[in-house]
Amino acid sequence: MKTIGMIGGMSWESTSTYYREINEGIKNTLGGLHSAKIALYSVDFDEIEKLQHTDDWEATATILTQAAQAVEASGADFLLICTNTMHKVATQIEAGINIPLIHIADATAEQLRKDGVERVGLLGTRFTMEQDFYRDRLTRRFGIEVLIPEQPERELVHRVIYDELCLGKIEDNSRREYLSVMAELAGRGAQAIILGCTEIALLVQQQHTAIHLYDTTRLHCAAAVRTATALEPHLC
Ligand code: GLU
Repeated sequence: MKTIGMIGGMSWESTSTYYREINEGIKNTLGGLHSAKIALYSVDFDEIEKLQHTDDWEATATILTQAAQAVEASGADFLLICTNTMHKVATQIEAGINIPLIHIADATAEQLRKDGVERVGLLGTRFTMEQDFYRDRLTRRFGIEVLIPEQPERELVHRVIYDELCLGKIEDNSRREYLSVMAELAGRGAQAIILGCTEIALLVQQQHTAIHLYDTTRLHCAAAVRTATALEPHLC
């Protein structure tokens, strides 16, 4: 079995989901007492969040590249960056290490393609919804059209992520608001919704809506399990 490298802590609320999902996946695949070999470097999210909101992405790239190098030095065979947003600096991180990265958008897009989804709604941080690094990858590499909420709804989705979900607060009212944003995207033609932030599934799950949800956390973990158990060479 390969060792899964992870940069976590963004936020730790979702990193704990990664840890459980990956271990459950390894147990389901290999059985018995098998558990995942993981090298995890967990950062202080307060530091990262401040740099994000002051637009100092270079500084975040430096911190995360050093984390990735520590993960590689710990024996990891490949790397997961356990957040959608920080894939904004994935190229810089990749350039600083010698192990491959499983990109969270690729793991998600591959499942969308398998399911024949061509037009999808995207919820995530403002950075993920508005900037090119994520949407462009889905469109250019996979031919998937991406719809995002209108500006006030983007603000709402962003605020709930940082002020609630990353702090472990799960509010019924926020779930209702997210479901209404999703319904609006479906009304504009989205065939499914990408939960493009690793904490959103803590708030909204498939049981809450008839709209098909693609949870990036779960899909990223599943790709890691397949790669670790050599069921699939899922590396870019
Ligand atoms: N975990 C979130 C994501 O998937 C947001 C936190 C962050 O900014 O990294 O984008």
